[in-house]
Amino acid sequence: MTINAIKYLLFKYAICLNYQFVIITLTYGDFILSIESGYPLMEIPFAHRYQCWFCGEPKDREISFPKEKSSNTLLTHPPLSIPCCNECATLIKRCAFESIFVYRYAVKKELAKKHQKTLSIGSRWTEVELQESQLEGSAFEGFKRSAWFMFKLQQARINFMGWPIYIDGKSLEVEDTQYGFAFDGTIYADLDGAINHVIDAFYLDELLFTRVLALLGKDKFAYAIRLCRLYPKLSTTTRESVFLEIVESLAIEET
Ligand SMILES: [Zn+2]
Repeated sequence: MTINAIKYLLFKYAICLNYQFVIITLTYGDFILSIESGYPLMEIPFAHRYQCWFCGEPKDREISFPKEKSSNTLLTHPPLSIPCCNECATLIKRCAFESIFVYRYAVKKELAKKHQKTLSIGSRWTEVELQESQLEGSAFEGFKRSAWFMFKLQQARINFMGWPIYIDGKSLEVEDTQYGFAFDGTIYADLDGAINHVIDAFYLDELLFTRVLALLGKDKFAYAIRLCRLYPKLSTTTRESVFLEIVESLAIEET
């Protein structure tokens, strides 16, 4: 049996089992492709082979960036697959990110928010103060033993900066978008700032708006708002059908 035949069988086997996040990767020519998305997997240095690129914890799967092919319009670099832990993979629900670095910033922000209590231990205590504190009782003993360790762990996750992104031996080229984003006479620090503002100002459904915007591109920012204003606050099922409805109406407009 040839190598290619073995790879093909592995591929079929993975599909049969309907693996959402298959770790096996197949080599096609010079690229390593992730089965899940078909996007090239970023290169992983040997020292980081078991790590999540976002937080440095053990990786559980590979995620596609962007999540949906329809979101490629906004992207300033080619789509890719990234090794990720389960927690970082599920923190961000919305779309409309211009680069993997903007996405990483959003992941870190959510991570810090989620573990705010643990992270605040480092602001309120030093390791020595904690050990010497007069906290007594079994609950406090447990806290004294594990609190500093948990703080250091979460702090290291927030501070972890991944490793440089290379795909097929080439560094990932990202267009610089740090010049602000103008909309309706206001210049926002970045696209994300403008998105947050209009979601609040126009009572938009965040997940629908970012998905539609990622499909249309930022040149059609105002149009994406107009479309989504018709559908404030949706349930998961209605959001999906509304999105498909919008996609369909856009296709009709283009014909
Ligand atoms: Zn992670």
